[in-house]
Amino acid sequence: MKIALVGIGKIALDQHVPALAASPDWELAATVSRRGRVEGVPAFADLDRMLAAHPEIGTVSLCLPPVPRFAAAQAVLRAGRNLMLEKPPGATLAEVHVLRDLAQAHGVGLYTTWHSRMAHAVGQAKAWLADRDIRAGRITWREDVRRWHPGQDWIFDPGGMGVFDPGINALSILTEILPVSVHLTAAELDFPRNRQAPIAARLSFSHGIAADLDFRQEGPQTWDIELRTDAGHLALRMGGNLLEIDGRRVGGEDSIMGEYPALYHRMARLVREGKSDVDLTPMVLVADAFVLGRRNTVEAFEP
Ligand code: NAP
Repeated sequence: MKIALVGIGKIALDQHVPALAASPDWELAATVSRRGRVEGVPAFADLDRMLAAHPEIGTVSLCLPPVPRFAAAQAVLRAGRNLMLEKPPGATLAEVHVLRDLAQAHGVGLYTTWHSRMAHAVGQAKAWLADRDIRAGRITWREDVRRWHPGQDWIFDPGGMGVFDPGINALSILTEILPVSVHLTAAELDFPRNRQAPIAARLSFSHGIAADLDFRQEGPQTWDIELRTDAGHLALRMGGNLLEIDGRRVGGEDSIMGEYPALYHRMARLVREGKSDVDLTPMVLVADAFVLGRRNTVEAFEP
């Protein structure tokens, strides 16, 4: 099946292009980006032109940041193409409701991806937790924004979500593996005095689960979820890729390279079956943190 990629930047080049090149399901048939391109693939700077020039491209995958993504997403659905969205699926929840309705009205598929849910040990963690009671939990998601997001000013603009850009990955795993639903009960957000989005956040959820998200972590980086249950202690490390039970490694792999191939495999299946997969639960937790959170002003952030 032919697919187009829109927004040829960091994640498109790091993950989407290699995943599509290795996929038995997809052929990358066009790109849309003002500056970015992929060698050997027809490149457009304008989405509407690409859609008009390539009616045979049935699916479009958007790798733009969340704020500019909505207009592009509407154009793709109105043109009757299936749509795959990077996380977070929108700048607001209501945008994604609009897209879901639009996809339905045009009879095409919509997939709001959560790449971290495809990490190696997430399925095994979910199975282990299925019949256990959650007693408490701790998410520690601390990374260096300068190292992972160089030059990405949008991340601290309104709608860029700041530390929730990576933090929502942790919440996407949490909401996937838990046998119960969780809701946010309190939040404290640290905004640099020269920025519009938080650089750190401490969150409390039901079931005694707490989260510590920080974009200022130098040295070792941490992407861990730990859960205490009525029958043992689970730790997912490396962004959901390694699983420990009661301190002993029981599963996973020390690599993140399987996530995007798995996303495109799922998209192929959705298209073949004429289905959509739209899940907003991680984003509801983030939106509630902005609604309920106590706001602190902290030191200015300079990239
Ligand atoms: P990026 O490199 O900053 O942006 C991707 C591309 O989008 C840019 O190269 C640019 O292409 C286009 N773009 C940027 N700002 C735009 C604007 N205001 N209007 C129109 N086009 C714009 O971002 P990214 O890191 O790839 O992230 C994109 C999405 O993927 C985000 O939602 C992010 O959360 C998600 N994601 C990122 C990572 C990661 O490690 N970076 C990992 C997983 C998921 P042109 O200038 O060529 O048009």
